[in-house]
Amino acid sequence: MRMRNSMQDVITIDGPVGVGKSTVAKALARKLGYTYLDTGAMYRAFSLKLLRNGISTDDIEGILQLINSTFIDFDGEKVFLDGEDVSSLIRSKEVEKIVSKVASISQVRKFIVSLQRNMSKKGKVVMEGRDCGTVVAPDARYKFYLDASLEERASRRLRDEKYSNRNVSIEDVKREIELRDRIDSTREDSPLRVPDGAIVINTDNMSIEEVVAELVKYIDKF
Ligand code: C5P
Repeated sequence: MRMRNSMQDVITIDGPVGVGKSTVAKALARKLGYTYLDTGAMYRAFSLKLLRNGISTDDIEGILQLINSTFIDFDGEKVFLDGEDVSSLIRSKEVEKIVSKVASISQVRKFIVSLQRNMSKKGKVVMEGRDCGTVVAPDARYKFYLDASLEERASRRLRDEKYSNRNVSIEDVKREIELRDRIDSTREDSPLRVPDGAIVINTDNMSIEEVVAELVKYIDKF
């Protein structure tokens, strides 16, 4: 019962790559005075740690050892890996190449999901990712699923300043997005799905402000 109560002020936003989840979730959190939780940043931080330690995604023993000595935390929108601010480093091409493979490893998910559940227990959280409404916080009060066409998502990603230092074409971005979406939605453990009871919003032709306003409309209705 206590678990249910603590989920009353949890909002989840799931969806595919590049749909604008993080921008929308940040804006919504700010509006409501909630904490923003970027669940993908944690898979990215752990991927960075694997790269730094030269551990391959097939080396489950090595991965388990690394999990035992890994500390991931947030300070506002900044993500820390073992005390170091890695907010920019986790957006690198190298991390992006392996993150979906890393996130498909059950042992890694178990570790990161338990951290996320602890963080969400404090309440007043807007969390965004792939399995927030299905696995991390299925009892969340409000669950949203954002979608948009591949074309739209690729051009949004190209405009995103976090990724703008990369010299890539729209075709490259589309290929990267499709590959990551395929891995994320076909993996065995916690695949990307529309959560039960989620409100689905197609954000094609909508600005960030319009999407946030749409979400707020639903939140007010309950
Ligand atoms: O959202 P972002 O693009 O930063 O997520 C990076 C990757 O982390 C995703 O492609 C996915 O493989 C993984 N992820 C996940 N579950 C989440 C959030 C992210 O598996 N809740």
